[in-house]
Amino acid sequence: MRLTFKITVFFIGGICLVMAWHGMTNVERETELFESQMRRDHYAIAQPLAVMIGQAWGDFGEGFAHELVRSSNEADERIRIRWVWADVETPERIRPEAPEETGSKLARGKAVSWIDGDQIHGGRLYTYVPVVLGGERIGALELSESFERQQAYVEDSKLRIATTTILIILLAAAIAWVTGLLFIARPVEALIGKARAIGRGDLETPLELRGHDELSQLGREMNLMSDQLASTRGRLREETSARIAALQQLRHADRLKTVGTLSAGLAHELGTPLNVISMRTKMIEHAEVEGDKARACAAIIGEQTERISRIIGQLMDFARVRSLRTEEMKVTAVVTQALELIKPIAEKKGVQMRMEARDTELVGEIDADQFVQVLTNLLVNAMHACEEQGGGQVEISVEEVERIHPEAEQGDLERYVAVKIGDDGVGISREVIDQIFEPFFTTKDVGQGSGLGLSVSYGIAREHGGWIEVESREEEGTEFTVILPRKEE
Ligand code: ADP
Repeated sequence: MRLTFKITVFFIGGICLVMAWHGMTNVERETELFESQMRRDHYAIAQPLAVMIGQAWGDFGEGFAHELVRSSNEADERIRIRWVWADVETPERIRPEAPEETGSKLARGKAVSWIDGDQIHGGRLYTYVPVVLGGERIGALELSESFERQQAYVEDSKLRIATTTILIILLAAAIAWVTGLLFIARPVEALIGKARAIGRGDLETPLELRGHDELSQLGREMNLMSDQLASTRGRLREETSARIAALQQLRHADRLKTVGTLSAGLAHELGTPLNVISMRTKMIEHAEVEGDKARACAAIIGEQTERISRIIGQLMDFARVRSLRTEEMKVTAVVTQALELIKPIAEKKGVQMRMEARDTELVGEIDADQFVQVLTNLLVNAMHACEEQGGGQVEISVEEVERIHPEAEQGDLERYVAVKIGDDGVGISREVIDQIFEPFFTTKDVGQGSGLGLSVSYGIAREHGGWIEVESREEEGTEFTVILPRKEE
């Protein structure tokens, strides 16, 4: 409707401009024509009259000539004729408003014509024609006529043009409105409806637009597009469910791999409490301790048993497959949990792990189990990278950072929680750094690495609404940053 209205307004605007230009040029042309017609009339009357009066002046004297001038006034009341002297100051002199050269021109026998005032607002046309008297004095006839008639004619013209313009505008507006409704507003409304339906996900209802114009063509293209979208959507659904299934398998495989890595450390972790338990049990059994000491031994055995079941519990939690279950929690708490799992193994291998929490209060919406998996993957990788150098340092920090989300349409900076894991290990070469997040990409020996850790970790970070960044220099070290949306407390 708005488009139809705009087209109608432009259409009418155009017509108004053309008609205004037509009216103006018409009035100008008519004014010029009228004026030249008046001048011609004046000369046609005055010139023969001047000859006649000049003759009468010579033959019958001045009085008869003046009588002739008076009587000629009665013939046409629109034109006033008067006798004037061009050379002296008498009541019958040339009008003082006349152009300066009027006198000299009349003396040379030339007629003069001029306009007093303006044509539109009650001006008059004056014409002086010399009369040959045969003496020294210069006499002339003055003809004057008002522009009133011309004015009335122009007014009439204007009225005619205005009426015609209004009629044309009304007709054009009606035609433009009806045409706009039929050929633009209705098809455009149908197209908008179709676009909205596509936006809502309704790809089935086709758009019915008859005709062969551009809008009908657009409608056909939209139908075609929604058909293609529908088939792509179907394909995408199938692919997505297949991908989800594959991802879940990958994640499970990765957990099992990490469990394998951990079991070496686990043997050590469990070995110490088991030794303690075994020793204390023997002491009680062989009655080496009695009374309070025996009770203390039993307490130590209890503590160590709890420690073992805690470790086993963590491992069980870790290896379980399940979907994301998030809750608000402090990020440092989760990082500490992951660190506790890896730190003892790392230290055994000569790799020191140090945590620096710049802001311990930072909160995220986190699935602790899954996030621990991400962090252990990164920590184990950092440990391996240092190990290859014969030892090293891993620095972990939790801080707030500002980033633009890599998939955001508008590039606004937002605040996120960042967990940085930096090592001074072997680093990643420039040739492979773009591939490290690909599933099954590994630079490790067969049996040592599955190439699943980073791809699974990236998937988990994305499910949390975040992502993972990496910076590395060969032989200097690597820093992975896990970015998570920040939850305001
Ligand atoms: P995997 O550890 O089983 O090889 P990942 O997906 O965890 O699989 O890692 C892929 C590859 O990325 C590794 O093989 C290694 O080349 C590289 N990489 C990952 N983390 C680091 C790191 N901290 N330092 C050096 N290289 C790394």
